[in-house]
Amino acid sequence: MFTRILTTTMITAVLALAPAAFGQQGDHSNHSEKQGSHAKMNAKAMGQAQTACPISGKPIDKKIYADYNGERVYFCCEDCKAAFKNDPAEVISKLKADGVKLEKVSMMQTKCPVMGGKIDKKLSAVHDGKKVYFCCPACKAKFEKDPAKYIEKMEAQGVKLEKVKKSE
Ligand SMILES: [Zn+2]
Ligand SMILES: [Zn+2]
Repeated sequence: MFTRILTTTMITAVLALAPAAFGQQGDHSNHSEKQGSHAKMNAKAMGQAQTACPISGKPIDKKIYADYNGERVYFCCEDCKAAFKNDPAEVISKLKADGVKLEKVSMMQTKCPVMGGKIDKKLSAVHDGKKVYFCCPACKAKFEKDPAKYIEKMEAQGVKLEKVKKSE
């Protein structure tokens, strides 16, 4: 008996609200609703900021992140960050497929652009006012045959090269 009364009351309430809601939508909301979905499409095309952890789907904690190839990925917890490190490239490509635009981070050069080895600060070359370090003399020689190509590659990965004033 109690259930029946409750149900009837609820139906009455819904019926009372429904005509008003439909009327509003028919007259005024239609136009703005179209605009809304259009704006949403644009946001996806342009890329939206990351809000969800790529591992768990929970909201991100801005204090927990990892940088990979000059891009920053945020997580909800340290466990997800650890999971990311198993296959970062895969996680990043999924984020991008979802229309997420990752934050670019610039990093100092730590790796040789030729061999990928750890740089030796005593081995460097300057091209176009930018200083590049290498792991060994052989890499420096290789770089000097096509410096622009290596610099372009490094900058595409988010490496910020030291600026040197031209002395000539
Ligand atoms: Zn997590
Ligand atoms: Zn080398």
